[in-house]
Amino acid sequence: MEMTIGLTLSSFPFWVLQRPLPELAGLILLLYLYVAYQRLHRLRQNELFRIISENAADMIALVEVTGKRLYNSPAYEKVLGYSSKELAATGSLEQVHPEDRERVIEAAKQASLTGVGKHIEYRMRHRDGSWLVLESTASAIRNRRGQVTHLVIVNRDVTKRKRMEEQLEHEAFHDALTGLPNRSLFLDRLQRAMDHAKRHPEFKFAVLFVDIQGLKIFSETMGHAVVDQLIFDISNRLKARLRHDDTISRSTPTGGSGRPIGDEILARMDGDRFTLLLESIKTPSDPMRVAMRVQESLAAPFTANGVDAFTSASIGIALSSPSYQEPAEMLRDADIAMCRAKAQGMSGCEVFDTHMHALVVRRLKLETELRKAIEREEFRVFYQPIIRLATGQIAGVEALVRWWHNESEFVGPADFIEVAEETGLIVPIGRWVFKEACRQAHAWHLLFNTDPLLTTTINVSPRQFAQSNLFADVKSALDETKVAPWSLLLEITETMAMSDPKMTTRIFSQLKDIGVRLSIDDFGTGHSSLSRLRSFPVDVLKIDRSFIRGIEHDVESREIARLIVTLAHHLDLKVIAEGIETPGQHAYVEQFGCEFGQGYLYSPPVDHAALQKLLASASRDSDEPAVNAGPRTQDVNRRN
Ligand code: C2E
Ligand code: MG
Ligand code: MG
Repeated sequence: MEMTIGLTLSSFPFWVLQRPLPELAGLILLLYLYVAYQRLHRLRQNELFRIISENAADMIALVEVTGKRLYNSPAYEKVLGYSSKELAATGSLEQVHPEDRERVIEAAKQASLTGVGKHIEYRMRHRDGSWLVLESTASAIRNRRGQVTHLVIVNRDVTKRKRMEEQLEHEAFHDALTGLPNRSLFLDRLQRAMDHAKRHPEFKFAVLFVDIQGLKIFSETMGHAVVDQLIFDISNRLKARLRHDDTISRSTPTGGSGRPIGDEILARMDGDRFTLLLESIKTPSDPMRVAMRVQESLAAPFTANGVDAFTSASIGIALSSPSYQEPAEMLRDADIAMCRAKAQGMSGCEVFDTHMHALVVRRLKLETELRKAIEREEFRVFYQPIIRLATGQIAGVEALVRWWHNESEFVGPADFIEVAEETGLIVPIGRWVFKEACRQAHAWHLLFNTDPLLTTTINVSPRQFAQSNLFADVKSALDETKVAPWSLLLEITETMAMSDPKMTTRIFSQLKDIGVRLSIDDFGTGHSSLSRLRSFPVDVLKIDRSFIRGIEHDVESREIARLIVTLAHHLDLKVIAEGIETPGQHAYVEQFGCEFGQGYLYSPPVDHAALQKLLASASRDSDEPAVNAGPRTQDVNRRN
């Protein structure tokens, strides 16, 4: 390397010229020594530069301000693969990524003008054609007149660090399983679309919420790895289908961020739920058509462990509207529409509309009021007699919750149990019902002392069953109220019992261990596996009302009812027929050998005082209280 830095004029000792001759000789010697020292010093500096640049891992270059290369340290060859000769034959910008050149030129200009180098990052091509990311700072070298003539550029290879940063960023905004954008990235894109729509009111977009059905059975039988594979395959099929979708007519203006607006973005929210953002739609039917394509694309089965997996999708659509303030609001509405679609059956599609909005508002109000109802103790337990069909006497009661709402009416569970279930409020409500029913049962046992004891049936909701500590709640109610455990019959619907048979067996066994009896409610409406039913330690099956309703006129209902009784007896279970409204229905179930009946024919659910009257009047006649099969004994809406 050859680098010369001129002896500066200001450093020449001019005073020597004014001295006498002998002195001058001495001075010349001194001057000679001075120059020799300066040279040596310069040589040292050059040597130092050489040693540093040749041994540094960073690439150090000396270029003229015109861009001409004067020197490239050996690190260039190690990092970028070019020999010094190859580099010398090319301009300093030649290997720089075309998109970054302008920035590099600008940074060099800045360094030339100000003498202070800016810190920049740019891409440079490796000799093998790949791109490396370099972090670079330029320092200026001035001539004697103070002008910048050269730049010393120090480049560091930060490719690995950059890739790692990019990877981390990617992971933060993408779903690990499918590689699709995740919820955060989706909401970000949705926000951009909303911002764009504010500036361009003609710009319309839609959010599709896609819920895939049919995977649950695979997670139960084949485990999570298989379901993950299925979700991966589904996402790939959806991606491919959307790429080739020419059903929507879109314009492609450019969004503020530079990203073209007019795209669709498929994201995975969680589990088997995906979302889709459709930008620049022309009509509301565009997202509907896309929804249909999504559903069609799932028509062919997937394969999991050699087994065909049939899936379907419920899709909710929310259309852009200036009334949306936050992306989450639009996503929520698409979700609500999806739930409606799901409720309407497989492969449904619903668009969120004002009616749905009204329903949501009403629901939210109900939710708030339900919360207050717990604090204000507005719940009451009504009791409906369960009759021993052979004798017509009351063998037990079913505890049914009522809500004394707005001080005007009793609201039946049909109008609030679902909301209570979804919000989790059912847990405290159920706990209260349970304790109240146990307290009342014990009081009636003391009062009437029948043999066998009056049975109290209490309903348990799915949430109570799966999430709360049901066993602990039951135990604490038994301890507190001192009611005999065997006089209690806990009722769990068939669908609930079969949804997680392992959990059902575990909880049932715990409850049986403390002496509580168990019943399967609404039997015949779910999908029971007989072997599973056999393994549950239950005591009673309750035939669903829908079969009793048709028993007189519909052969199928009648045969199903008969079959359920036979099946139950085979499994050594007792049967309660619910919803008996006519003497004809009563006659049929009695003929089938059903032991117990419940329905308006005997009595609707009534408050505790009315039921106590029934028990009292019956106990006057016999050991076990009887109820007359006849008209309703009391209006269900009477206040407790
Ligand atoms: P379920 O357990 O099947 O209760 C029977 C329902 O049928 C009761 O409705 C009862 O009033 C009604 N019913 C009885 N006999 C007849 C009849 O002859 N004809 C007709 N059409 N209906 C009859 P209710 O009280 O409205 O309760 C509805 C559902 O709400 C119950 O169905 C049960 O699943 C749930 N539920 C009620 N109380 C509670 C509770 O305290 N906790 C929980 N988790 N669920 C409850
Ligand atoms: Mg029930
Ligand atoms: Mg029922």
